[in-house]
Amino acid sequence: MTEQTAQRRVRLSKSKYQTGLQCPLRLWFSVHERELADPLSYSSKRRFERGSEIGVLAQGLWPDGVTIEATHLQPLDALEQTREALAAGAPALFEAAFEHEDVFVRVDALERLADGRWRMVEVKSSTKMKDEHVTDIAVQKWVLEGAGLEIASAELMHLDNTYVWDGTRDADGRPVYDLARLFAAEDATALAEAYQPQVAETAAALLAMLHGAERPEAAIGSRCTTPYDCDFRGTCHSCLPEQYPVTLLPFVTGDQLDALIAAGVLDIRDIPDTFRLQARQVERIRPMLTGEPEVLRDPRSEFARWRFPLLFLDFEDFQPALPLYPGTRPYQYAIPFQYSLHVLHADGRLEQRGYLHTGSDDPRPEWIAHLLADLGDTGTIVHYSHHESTVIGKVADACPEHAEALLALRPRMADLEKVVAACIGHPGFIGRTSMKQVLPALAGEDGPTYHGKRIANGEDATTYYHDAVTGFLSPEDAAAVFADLEAYCAVDTLGMVEVYRALAGVREAGGRLVLA
Ligand code: SF4
Repeated sequence: MTEQTAQRRVRLSKSKYQTGLQCPLRLWFSVHERELADPLSYSSKRRFERGSEIGVLAQGLWPDGVTIEATHLQPLDALEQTREALAAGAPALFEAAFEHEDVFVRVDALERLADGRWRMVEVKSSTKMKDEHVTDIAVQKWVLEGAGLEIASAELMHLDNTYVWDGTRDADGRPVYDLARLFAAEDATALAEAYQPQVAETAAALLAMLHGAERPEAAIGSRCTTPYDCDFRGTCHSCLPEQYPVTLLPFVTGDQLDALIAAGVLDIRDIPDTFRLQARQVERIRPMLTGEPEVLRDPRSEFARWRFPLLFLDFEDFQPALPLYPGTRPYQYAIPFQYSLHVLHADGRLEQRGYLHTGSDDPRPEWIAHLLADLGDTGTIVHYSHHESTVIGKVADACPEHAEALLALRPRMADLEKVVAACIGHPGFIGRTSMKQVLPALAGEDGPTYHGKRIANGEDATTYYHDAVTGFLSPEDAAAVFADLEAYCAVDTLGMVEVYRALAGVREAGGRLVLA
């Protein structure tokens, strides 16, 4: 066996073990047919990278720790470097490598205790322990014990969202966090030991599958998004019809989806009458069956209560995992950095205003000042979903000096999504009421669109914004992102105007209400 072949021998890593638990076919693809994977979005890539950065930050809790430098492509080198660090008496190791029965793990942090045993720590960027973390930790503990280490405790270290950053920075202006308070460790030893007896058998079965000649079979269904979004859905889900795939059944539960797919139902319109659906599901799929839009209630009676000018408002906000602004916490909800406002006057004139904070300081003070000035004190504030009202409440809590003015906006607010949900059924909605679904159905191809834009959803908006204001992007790239953000947010509010106009245009025809 050559050196390169030995490095590449099929092993089961802790992440591959998790992948195999989710779906054996996903594991097979990820090892043998990686080229079938869906393209990784910018947001997904940055999410992984930020998770790794948080792992590196946690290493500061062990100032004398030794990092095993070999990459994931050099498992034998990593094992050798780990043996050397252990023999040299390193008090703590980062990315230490161990192997047992062809299961190979890298441990985020391994601390040598005074009695010769070890504290094993898995670092996650979440704020609490999840079920999938327990199996992850159990696999590592099983491997380390198989390799001869005595594990005193197996812990999950995650971000503590009660920690408030005081704003301390180093000489280069980078945030300095109190790591002992930024991170919280939870003992997962007992939970891991309860799962551990299953590891050997499960790992052996997954390895046998990987060493076999046959690609395993797996039905699509709830497993494709639980506990993680699978990156091979582009391949497996190509069997689904494009227009009304059963995976988009409104309010679908995992059990419903698995039962429908097991029965061979791939199209929402083919769901048999005998299949048990919730009343709200029946109502939402009816337009898909008839192919006709429905006006369930007259939206004009709701609009009659609204006062011009109509102020169509949309926010963008983010929740940085690591606090960026003094006085904020990990994943602080919510820090708005942008809004777009389309103002529709009674005479039909339409104006657009907005604000985007492009500095690296806390966006909220400027955002509040611009927002209050732009909204004035007359007119109905039209938003889409409860999000804007919730954000106003959160910002009022965080900035009590502006609370009265912010909370005074709420009685003027009206939720257009609620009107859509109560009044309109449409085959193009596919049972949903989000702006991304409703706008193209009501405004058609000539309406404002998110299609083909670099920033086309909320996750893209927050990811790019974070990278633009933290200096991750060059000034030129950041400027381009700011321009894209302004265009993206404006589509949301112009889209709301179009949706409002479509609903306001409801008329009587043949004794019933129809969309114009
Ligand atoms: S898309 Fe679903 S069935 Fe296909 S590999 Fe992924 S989890 Fe398995």
